[in-house]
Amino acid sequence: MSRKIIIAIDGHSSCGKSTMAKQLARDIGYIYVDSGAMYRAVTLYALRAGCFDADDHLDAARLESLMPEVRVGFRLNAATRLPETMLGEECVEQAIRTLEVSAHVSPIAALPFVRIAMTRLQQQMGEQKGIVMDGRDIGTAVFPHAELKIFVTASAEVRARRRYDELQAKGMPAAYDDILRNVQERDYIDSHRAMNPLRQAEDAIVLDNSALTREQQSAWLLAQYHKVVGD
Ligand code: C5P
Repeated sequence: MSRKIIIAIDGHSSCGKSTMAKQLARDIGYIYVDSGAMYRAVTLYALRAGCFDADDHLDAARLESLMPEVRVGFRLNAATRLPETMLGEECVEQAIRTLEVSAHVSPIAALPFVRIAMTRLQQQMGEQKGIVMDGRDIGTAVFPHAELKIFVTASAEVRARRRYDELQAKGMPAAYDDILRNVQERDYIDSHRAMNPLRQAEDAIVLDNSALTREQQSAWLLAQYHKVVGD
């Protein structure tokens, strides 16, 4: 059996990180963790708790006081063998994928007290290694010593189109222009926040997947893994 490592997959929103990370985890028998889902779950909590006012201003102090009650985690779905995002006892896997959550998540993810709490949980999940985690700051802040770091990107238009197709397929239609605007806004906020902004780790391997099929990406990623573990 190969030695267990940590695989960090970072990149822009909607660039297919989770699809490739999930596939890799399945191929090599690793645990998959979607760190973006954790920030989305906190955002869903904040929306429900009325932390945004009618003008969409965020009451960060209110959210901070409620943080001890926010329990984010994952539960393995026995049928799909994939982890589902939990908020307390509730499975929120669908509820965190709406455009409303996407539109509010970046300001929530910029709050230092939210990042500290999520980073701590993510590091605990990686203690035994054998994990593939995707996000924005996994290779830079959560696991700076990850043995394999990938930085994925693709043009904003390609990413918006993919998100659009994904939502359509799930029966959650949204306008392409709204999605494109959301993708661009999140790129900006994620890259410019003060704490752990989205950036490429110096030792990350860059993958621009604008013109790659899923199969090509998966094969490429698997080859990177085998190179690191040496088999
Ligand atoms: O990956 P996904 O698009 O679902 O992530 C949702 C949001 O969560 C991102 O736009 C970003 O603001 C935030 N995020 C983050 N750090 C991570 C993962 C996600 O700030 N490691």
